[in-house]
Amino acid sequence: MKFASEFRDPKAAKVLLAEIAKVADRIGATKDKPVHIMEVCGGHTHSIFRYGLDKLVHEGIEFIHGPGCPVCVLPRARVDECIEIAERPGVIFTTFGDAMRVPGTKKSLLQAKADGADIRMVYSPLDALELARRNPEREVVFFGLGFETTTPSTALAIQQAAREGLGNFSVFCNHIKVPEPIKALLDDPHMCLDGFIGPGHVSMVIGIHPYDFIAQDYGKPLAVAGFEPLDLLQSVLMVLRQIAEGRAEVENQYARVVPEHGNPVSLAAIDDVYETRPSFEWRGLGEIDKSGLRIRAQYEAYDAEEKFGIGYATGRREVEEAEGCACGQVMTGRTKPVDCPQFGRGCTPEMPLGALMVSSEGACAAYWQYGGARAVEPAE
Ligand code: SF4
Repeated sequence: MKFASEFRDPKAAKVLLAEIAKVADRIGATKDKPVHIMEVCGGHTHSIFRYGLDKLVHEGIEFIHGPGCPVCVLPRARVDECIEIAERPGVIFTTFGDAMRVPGTKKSLLQAKADGADIRMVYSPLDALELARRNPEREVVFFGLGFETTTPSTALAIQQAAREGLGNFSVFCNHIKVPEPIKALLDDPHMCLDGFIGPGHVSMVIGIHPYDFIAQDYGKPLAVAGFEPLDLLQSVLMVLRQIAEGRAEVENQYARVVPEHGNPVSLAAIDDVYETRPSFEWRGLGEIDKSGLRIRAQYEAYDAEEKFGIGYATGRREVEEAEGCACGQVMTGRTKPVDCPQFGRGCTPEMPLGALMVSSEGACAAYWQYGGARAVEPAE
């Protein structure tokens, strides 16, 4: 197969759906006693809703939406810290567009920009590096945000800044890791998860073996998956077949893109620039051991936390979630977006209360975009 359309072939989808139904029946999955499969990645959540896969699969399959949206899991305190940096005199704060509208405790980066802070949207950390070169009298800060997918590009920008001796460039590092929150969810006695659809893009970098503990220590099957409908249906079938055969393994449905051992160049850049933090705070999940990365001492000159004396470089503030918001519950698969009391009432894409409604990978944005808005009764 060479083209995306081949992964959307309705005839092949019907064959896979029939096979899924057969295996689901064999293992006794029903609407009342479903098999819970968590798609870890927010990109998968959007594909599932975009193609209506949640409606097409056997009624005994329930998709649980995981914490794989880096913008969504960012706690409000970190957004506040971004704004604190951005509002300092002489700073140009650069960020991906996704993060602009995420609410902090008082405002978002977009609102801070409207208030006069010099905040600019970039498409890559290399754009921020170029801004630093062109504005030697200003301090250019890049908001480093994301899982292992985006971590290498920030690392390469820091390495390049160090090579050039660029003293006015730094990164506010919020890079996080995928396996640790999965472990935290598996350790939660209230979670009921039967299998996982593993993230495709992250796995391009880290390979499939960092998930081995899920199968070996917790006995749960996982299939790393691509983002087209046939990818997702095939990965659901792979997970179900493992359950039916009493196996728990890490399988790679996305082998056309994901190498078993990841990308060695990216992994080397990550290893050179970052080290693991003792713990990092996740929205909805709290502090998770070894789940975040910080910039190594060797590159301290490019670490905005050290440069501005902010965040984990100082004492951190605890910040509560916005009142009535169920972001944490949705992000850990305990609540569906439409069951959040704010969905479509106090929280819409135009007036978001939580990050899940504004991020392109947010579960609430997926529900809203692909028909969830219709499920909302108008507010009184
Ligand atoms: S609807 Fe809004 S407040 Fe509720 S969980 Fe989603 S993003 Fe959070």
